[in-house]
Amino acid sequence: MSVQQLLDLIKEKNIEFVDFRFVDLLGRGHHITLPATEVDADTFVNGVAFDGSSITGFRGIEESDMVMMPDPGTAYVDPFTAHATLVIVSNIHTPDGQHYERDPRSIAHKAEEFLQQSGVGTTAFFAPESEFFIFDDVRYESTMNSSSYFVDSEEAAWNTNRKEEGGNLGFKIGVKGGYVPVAPVDSQQDIRSEMVRLMQESGLRVERHHHEVATAGQAEINFRFDTLTTTADNLMKYKYIVHNVARQYGKVATFMPKPLFGDNGSGMHVHTSIFNGSEPLFYEAGAYANLSELALNYIGGILYHAPALIAITNPSTNSFRRLVPGYEAPINLVFSKGNRSAAIRIPIAAVTPKGCRIEFRTPDSTANPYLAFAAMLMAGLDGIKRKIDPRALGYGPFDTNIYELSDDQKKEIRSAPGTLDEALDALEADNDFLIEGGVFTKDFIENYVAVKRAEAKSVAIRIHPHEFGLYFDC
Ligand code: GLU
Ligand code: MG
Ligand code: MG
Repeated sequence: MSVQQLLDLIKEKNIEFVDFRFVDLLGRGHHITLPATEVDADTFVNGVAFDGSSITGFRGIEESDMVMMPDPGTAYVDPFTAHATLVIVSNIHTPDGQHYERDPRSIAHKAEEFLQQSGVGTTAFFAPESEFFIFDDVRYESTMNSSSYFVDSEEAAWNTNRKEEGGNLGFKIGVKGGYVPVAPVDSQQDIRSEMVRLMQESGLRVERHHHEVATAGQAEINFRFDTLTTTADNLMKYKYIVHNVARQYGKVATFMPKPLFGDNGSGMHVHTSIFNGSEPLFYEAGAYANLSELALNYIGGILYHAPALIAITNPSTNSFRRLVPGYEAPINLVFSKGNRSAAIRIPIAAVTPKGCRIEFRTPDSTANPYLAFAAMLMAGLDGIKRKIDPRALGYGPFDTNIYELSDDQKKEIRSAPGTLDEALDALEADNDFLIEGGVFTKDFIENYVAVKRAEAKSVAIRIHPHEFGLYFDC
């Protein structure tokens, strides 16, 4: 959409306010709203000023002036405001008109340009499956105080669940019992459908929605793949709508990776493929899972760099509570067709040559999508450039349930880092693949690591409820 078309749209739809949005380092949306009467063609040349020093991970107080530079192609009508409001996503510029090198959306754009310059292909497509829980809008005192924090077994979690539900298990979903049951067991059909309706109204092409595996309240809605930056924009819109519809229903939605001990967490599996024009580059008929050598090298790059990559795709302390065996969240840095215990799965059901893709299952929705997709693409492209063969490095294919292999067999398999700090160590040791072509910068990596180290420390120094179970009566 051109600027003129956008200004026409503002008139046509009687838009009263224009909401300019950007995304911070942590992947959270921020906005400043202008009356529509204050928006004209100049707004798209001069941008909208804001104070970068008050945003996590951006500028210091001594150089705080920043500018939002709106991208007219991203406009959609906000489905939640009382007054007709048009949302426009912006890139962040410095006052002298340069792209701000810590702006996640600018990094996503640079990764797309890097792909084109690399000669590998023209377009990378991404499709995230961002799972979430819908809970009653209360804090988790009951869970925090429950015995599931003190006893390391699923049975305890199950019992806790029964107790919390007041002993009535009629039409209630138990631990890991939530995968696609019909109503009345699934009591969240209407709220998910309302989310989907507003997503469609806001321009997302939604493909399906369903209840997920965990206890009552885990959901997943899938929207159609698109190019890298657009998919990250779409994910921001998706989360915005999920959170706000939940609120309208008196509920709260969370994308936190592991809110409940003893049950499945919420992942953000990411499907990717690369095309050259209309030609799908990941497909080769008759090969293992119909994967081309180029796709295998891309997988090699992701798995080789995975420990560092995970600092960006799983960037919270809670991320690593999800990455434990037994909950369909992969800890094994291997690939496989169909197998949900591998970090990379190759979907093989109902897949056409154009639909041939890889699914990276490790990420979760605490990731900033612009950074996560850009980092994944950079890792995969490095694998292609260096012709990394994942088979030669022992990364698979593994078509058995890896959780059930013997200890000796498991020793051969590399695991995801066990904590955020370990992932950050890996990122500090391995980041040349990210700064290739200036996509990420050294400054960005150093700043990112510092922000995340502080986050990990803020959790580590707090007293955990489980410690009372272990030590209180010592
Ligand atoms: N919830 C699981 C995870 O943490 C994934 C379940 C699925 O395969 O969709 O990744
Ligand atoms: Mg799922
Ligand atoms: Mg999946």
